[in-house]
Amino acid sequence: MKAIIFDIQRSSFVDGPGIRTTVFFKGCNLRCKWCHNPESQIIKPQIMFYKSKCISCGKCREACPNNMEKCDMCGKCTYACPNGARRICGREYTISEVLKEILKDKAFYETSGGGVTFSGGECMLQIDFLEEILKKCKENKVHTAVDTAGCIPWEYFLKIMPYTNLFLYDVKCFSDKLHILGTNYSNKLILENLKKLSDEFLGDIIIRIPVIGGFNDDTAEIRKICGFIKSLRIKNTEILPYHKMGEYKYEALGMKALKYKVPDPKEIKRLKEVFCNIQQGE
Ligand code: SF4
Ligand code: SF4
Repeated sequence: MKAIIFDIQRSSFVDGPGIRTTVFFKGCNLRCKWCHNPESQIIKPQIMFYKSKCISCGKCREACPNNMEKCDMCGKCTYACPNGARRICGREYTISEVLKEILKDKAFYETSGGGVTFSGGECMLQIDFLEEILKKCKENKVHTAVDTAGCIPWEYFLKIMPYTNLFLYDVKCFSDKLHILGTNYSNKLILENLKKLSDEFLGDIIIRIPVIGGFNDDTAEIRKICGFIKSLRIKNTEILPYHKMGEYKYEALGMKALKYKVPDPKEIKRLKEVFCNIQQGE
């Protein structure tokens, strides 16, 4: 069994507790306009071309058997490039390859309370592989987290719940109209799944709310999200300010990045206070 994965990052501190290894699955069924991992959206491997590194030597063209026209991802141009201006993003991994990477840091997970996080893209779209690798992690006593946007059939959650310790669950907005505007998809299934997960899952759930300047950063929207999740069994909520660190990847993929505002830290602080007040029963 194989999955298309575009990165495996060791020593991560941002995707759950402790020191973690984060496995990024390629392919996503949402199209968030502020996505900071645009290379995760399409499941197939893609060439990324970093124009600023290119010295126009032409070695990629000389190496390409297809005259740089119908790319079959052979990778010859990436090996030929002397300056790292071209790379293939995403390749197939077997279960044992991924497990081997995860287990390299097992000692650090044990001392820090960390583990592995499966992210993306939407890792739950490659559900059979995900179920299998989660089982293997469980057998090896590694703490497991699944980072999801939740726009997935409920049956998929049932498959992986027994082998998952923590869900990191994105809630981008409560208003359905706003959600469609920002992601091209309704959030009805996402909110329904979150409610079911809160009722049926025995492990932890952390909600993650990306705050995007000029999109969902108004008090009314944050109040609506908070009102909804207040009734759920949630371990924690994280408010994640939008950042522009992924913009260069849009250019490398030949895509156009939409410009959103990076929220002012004072505004984030104020929204966190609004959130806390509601949680505490304002
Ligand atoms: S990956 Fe292979 S086919 Fe694609 S552009 Fe590079 S050399 Fe050509
Ligand atoms: S081989 Fe690399 S540096 Fe040379 S032209 Fe191709 S992309 Fe640019």
